[in-house]
Amino acid sequence: MKTLMLGMAMVILFPACLRAAPAKPALEVVVLGSGGPRAFGRAGSSYILVVEGRPRILVDAGPGAFVRIGELHLDLGKVDTVLLTHPHIDHSGDLAAFFNARALTSDGPIVYRVFGPDGAGLFPKTSRFVDLLVGGDGAFAYQKTFGARETFTGRDLAISLDSARTKIVDEDGLVVEEIATHHGDCPSVAYRISYKSVVVVFSGDMDASALTNLVQLAKNADLLIFNCAVLDPPGSPPQLYDLHTPPKKIGEAARESGVKSLLLSHLAPDVEGQEDAVRKSIRASFAGPVEFASDKLRVPVGK
Ligand SMILES: [Zn+2]
Repeated sequence: MKTLMLGMAMVILFPACLRAAPAKPALEVVVLGSGGPRAFGRAGSSYILVVEGRPRILVDAGPGAFVRIGELHLDLGKVDTVLLTHPHIDHSGDLAAFFNARALTSDGPIVYRVFGPDGAGLFPKTSRFVDLLVGGDGAFAYQKTFGARETFTGRDLAISLDSARTKIVDEDGLVVEEIATHHGDCPSVAYRISYKSVVVVFSGDMDASALTNLVQLAKNADLLIFNCAVLDPPGSPPQLYDLHTPPKKIGEAARESGVKSLLLSHLAPDVEGQEDAVRKSIRASFAGPVEFASDKLRVPVGK
């Protein structure tokens, strides 16, 4: 019934998408986790991108992603590309568990590509992060011998805000681009995924100082998934504004980038309880459809 209700919600909120959607949309986002660092029933941030009906890309791997993959009976057989927005635990805590799940459903060798930000301060670069998990001296070194033969390649993405927007995947019509964002002291990037002229953008966690980059990356996207972890000031603890973008500015960014629809995710308990106020704040700038994510929500993107 829950699935039906969610499906109905999407009919109401993304009517154009659904009316024209074929049985297998070119692109579909499956929300594995719509929450953030607090444990209150939502899995940490994580998404599976489905291309032509087949799961292909994992975006973040927050705690709980492993459980949601199983609940949804997702076929991970072609999910070899992982995009990490940043290395905070609520976005990466289930990465090793994902490798485990993928290997146990595979017959042949697996070659993973893991993209994520370069390192800074207490945060390792992404290639080192992967090595610390499943490298030769990693905590889960055994994983390479468990289920399937696995090879891991990490690619570290520039984190300076003046770094150029970069194309990191371009194969069989599937294109992934990224750009640096800013999330307090934690290195972070945002991703734009395109397939057959359909575009979805993932903001990751970011504060408002990176909005110029995000607006550029999200230009004319069909769907922008923006992490909404704070209320407009002064509704949330002051220090959180150094880490997250408030709703009013999310709405402005959505309008400036010309995106067609907005999905708010990474929801915190106080935001979850203030949906009407958040929607109203975004409405002040952005006229397109606005929806709040929930775990296991499936969102067909574009035409
Ligand atoms: Zn987060």
